[in-house]
Amino acid sequence: MHHFHYLNNELYCEEIPVRDIARAVGTPFYLYSEATLTRHFQAFDSGFAGMDHLTCFAVKACSNIAVLNLFSGLGGGADIVSGGELFRALRAGVPPQRIIYSGVGKTAAEMREALEAGILMFNVESPQELDRLQAVASGLGVEAPVAFRVNPDVDPQTHAYISTGLAKNKFGIPVEDALREYVRARSMSNIAIRGVSCHIGSQLTRIDPFIEALGKLKKFISLLEERDIRITCLDLGGGVGITYADEQPPHPHDYARAIQKELNSMQCRLILEPGRVIVGNAGVLVTEVLYTKVNTGEDQEKRFVIVDAAMNDLTRPSLYGAYHEIRPVVDSGAPPQLVDIVGPICETGDFMARDRLLPRVSQGELLAIMSSGAYGFTMSSNYNSRPRAAEVLVSGGTFHVIRSRETYADLVRGEVIPVREEP
Ligand SMILES: *Cc1c(COP(=O)(O)O)cnc(C)c1O
Repeated sequence: MHHFHYLNNELYCEEIPVRDIARAVGTPFYLYSEATLTRHFQAFDSGFAGMDHLTCFAVKACSNIAVLNLFSGLGGGADIVSGGELFRALRAGVPPQRIIYSGVGKTAAEMREALEAGILMFNVESPQELDRLQAVASGLGVEAPVAFRVNPDVDPQTHAYISTGLAKNKFGIPVEDALREYVRARSMSNIAIRGVSCHIGSQLTRIDPFIEALGKLKKFISLLEERDIRITCLDLGGGVGITYADEQPPHPHDYARAIQKELNSMQCRLILEPGRVIVGNAGVLVTEVLYTKVNTGEDQEKRFVIVDAAMNDLTRPSLYGAYHEIRPVVDSGAPPQLVDIVGPICETGDFMARDRLLPRVSQGELLAIMSSGAYGFTMSSNYNSRPRAAEVLVSGGTFHVIRSRETYADLVRGEVIPVREEP
């Protein structure tokens, strides 16, 4: 359920025609609906209402500070994976005590920044990382609160690139080795054991892999208890998947119920790190049709719709072969045609959709690439020296540019032509 809808054949975001925003800010731009962001955050968070829990939004899914500030205001925290995301979360006003730090490659400098900020917990992913964290914390004379990210070796049944809970993935510490690390951590002067964490992958459309992982975590936690190591936090990682095409992911409440049932009487604070399920369908990428053309080969005709958004703006189709629904902003009711919707970048991999039935469109028309709120803008780049798109947030009948379109000057910021001595 989201607040992008048609009224008189015209796409609206909440109460505003998308066309009006395009006229004001130009294309391409990311467009988010505040009502949808709020609704999705609350739909997820309220599933766990009966439990002591904290919903830490995965910043990498959509990291604009206006979005982080919105979730913080709803009682959420942040799951960060870099010093840059820490900076954003703090800038957005997320209380440090609601920030979780995940990721396999935290640098000493990033650890120091997070310790100085006083974050809730580090999810440690290797023995060497633990040693470094102990050293950094000791240097600052503070305690580092930690959980180990355990790799439960569970198949999340999702795309290989976003599957993280298998032994062959780079993430976490194998369950078999984790006990040893907890014992080691216990003896460290500047490490405070707080929890166990696990994140098996993204865009999961079934609940059972989560439950299988949770089952393994429970067994592991009882092993810890036998060693008198008590944890107070259980971090279950990212959220469930969303519908891009015809996926039927579980409702967040069903996910919450299943977890509650499996946790049973376990006494600890639950931490959740949803990203996609909250923002995915709350954002679209709006683009303009630059040209249409037909390339005729020996035995086929291929129709192309060339738009002003490209793989640097939305990488998911190129990177994962991901499907995004594409809709005309003004639905003319024209008959559908089979087309490839492609961007201006000099790569054959630069497409938004291939072999897609789209009502016949012409130059100057606007298209909305749906479900682009998660891993959309955040994965964008300047490839082909294309300024990154603007981001716009709609709230009822008003809209705010929450990130202005980059300028050419932004493109070369920090670049220097070396001054060379004459020979
Ligand atoms: C990416 C990530 C998430 C968010 O995953 P979603 O599928 O977007 O909910 C949560 N936790 C960690 C550690 C991640 O890397």
